[in-house]
Amino acid sequence: MAEILHIGLDDTDSKRGMCTTYVAALVLERIEALGAKAVDYPHLIRLNPNCPYKTRGNAAVSLHVSLGLDMLDMVRDAVLEIVEANYERGYGDTQPGVAFLKTQAVPEKLVEFGLRAVREMVTLEEALEVAGEVGAELHGFNGGRGIIGALASIGCSLRSHTFEAIAYRMRENWGTVRRLDKTSVYALHQLGVTFDSFDPVTGEVRVAPHTPCPVLAGVRALTPDDALNGLKMIKFLEGVERVVVFKTNQATDMHLTPAKIIQLKPYSNAVITGSVSRPAWTIEGGHTFIAIRDETGEIVCAAYRPTGGLRKIIRGLRVGDVVRVAGGVKPKPMGLTLNLEKLEVLELAKSYTIRPPRCDLCGGAMKSKGRSGGFRCRICGRRLPRTAALKTSEARTVCAGRYEVAATARRHLSKPLQLAGESL
Ligand code: ATP
Repeated sequence: MAEILHIGLDDTDSKRGMCTTYVAALVLERIEALGAKAVDYPHLIRLNPNCPYKTRGNAAVSLHVSLGLDMLDMVRDAVLEIVEANYERGYGDTQPGVAFLKTQAVPEKLVEFGLRAVREMVTLEEALEVAGEVGAELHGFNGGRGIIGALASIGCSLRSHTFEAIAYRMRENWGTVRRLDKTSVYALHQLGVTFDSFDPVTGEVRVAPHTPCPVLAGVRALTPDDALNGLKMIKFLEGVERVVVFKTNQATDMHLTPAKIIQLKPYSNAVITGSVSRPAWTIEGGHTFIAIRDETGEIVCAAYRPTGGLRKIIRGLRVGDVVRVAGGVKPKPMGLTLNLEKLEVLELAKSYTIRPPRCDLCGGAMKSKGRSGGFRCRICGRRLPRTAALKTSEARTVCAGRYEVAATARRHLSKPLQLAGESL
C-alpha cells in the first residue's frame, strides 16, 4: 500500500555557501533512487520576508513523494544523512530542520501554520505544538530553528503558485564568478514568457545570484514548461550539474494581508488603506518617508534608496491623497515603519496654492494678515476676508494608479505589477 510522505527542509545554508534548494535536490535524487516517486514538483516556499533570522530570501523546501510503507525508515535515514552531510558547518545561525509528515491530505492546522509563517513571526514552541497535533516528526541540528520553516513548507498551500527552473553549478565552480551570456538572458526577457529575468532599467541580469551558493541561474514563469524552456534559452559558459523545477509561492503576494494600522505587529506584512497625513521627507542617502493615517492610527512608510523611482512618486503625494500601501512592518526608533513594496494611489486630494487677491478698490497688492485675519491692501488699507483669496489648483506630478519598487529591490514573494490583476 503506497503512502504519501511530505518532507520539509530548511536552514542548511549560511552567507558563505550552500542553499536549501540544492540540499533538497540531493535528497530527491537519493530517495527517488530508493524507489520513492514524486507526486508533485518540489515546493520552494518563501517564508516571511521580514524574518530577522533569514540568511537571504527565507526559502524552505518541501518534497512530496509516494512510497511503500516498508520504505519509510530507509527514506527517513537517507534524508537525515544527506542534510547532516551537506549543511554549512561552523555557523551558529545555520540551524537545519527536517520535518516528515505521512498523510494523504495536509491537515488544516498545518496549512494555517504555513500561512502564518509566510505572513508573520511564529515561535519554535508553536511549531512543536502544531507538529504534535498533526503527527509530524521533527529533526533539528545545531539548535534546530529550521524546523519552523521545514514544517511550514509542508503546510504552505500553493493554490496560487508560479514556477522556477534552477540550474546548479559544478562543485568545482562554487564561489567563482558565474559565466553566462548576458545577451541570451536579454533575448529571454524580450520573449516575455518569464518574469524577473532581466531588469531593463538597470541592464542587470536577474537570473543569477551573486552569492557563493550552488545556484547558477533560476528562471521564473507561470508554467513549468515556460520556466524550463526559458532556462534552456540561456547560454551558459560553464557546466551545469543538474536542473530542478520548483513550484513556488514566489510572485503571489501570499505574504500580504489587509490590516488596520492599530493591528500591525513587528515583522508582519500588510496592506493598508488610508490617507497621506504628512508630506514626504527625504534624509541623507536619498531614503524617502511619508506618513499614512487610517481611522485607527498613523504609520510612517519608508521607500529606501534601492526602491528607485518609487521615491519620486512618494515625493509627489500630498496630504489628503487616498492610497493603499503594501509592505513589511519593521520596528524602528521612531516606531513601527512600513517598508514599501507597492503603492496604489486611489484618489488625489484637490490641492490648491493660495495667494492674496488684488485690492477691489485701488487694484493694489494685498498682504495676508495670517490664517484668521484676511487680507489688507498695502496702498489704501482696504481689508478683505480670507474667502477672497485667489485659489489656483496645483498641477500634480502623480496620477492615480499602481506603483512598485525597482525590480532589483523586489521581494521574492511580491507579485510584479506586470502579473498583478486589478488591485495591489
Ligand atoms: P536561503 O534563502 O538562502 O535558503 P534563508 O534566507 O532561507 O536562506 P534560513 O537560513 O533558512 O534563511 O534561515 C531562516 C530561519 O528562520 C530558519 O531557521 C526558519 O526556520 C526561520 N523562520 C522562517 N520563517 C519564520 C517565521 N515566520 N517565524 C519564525 N522563524 C522563521
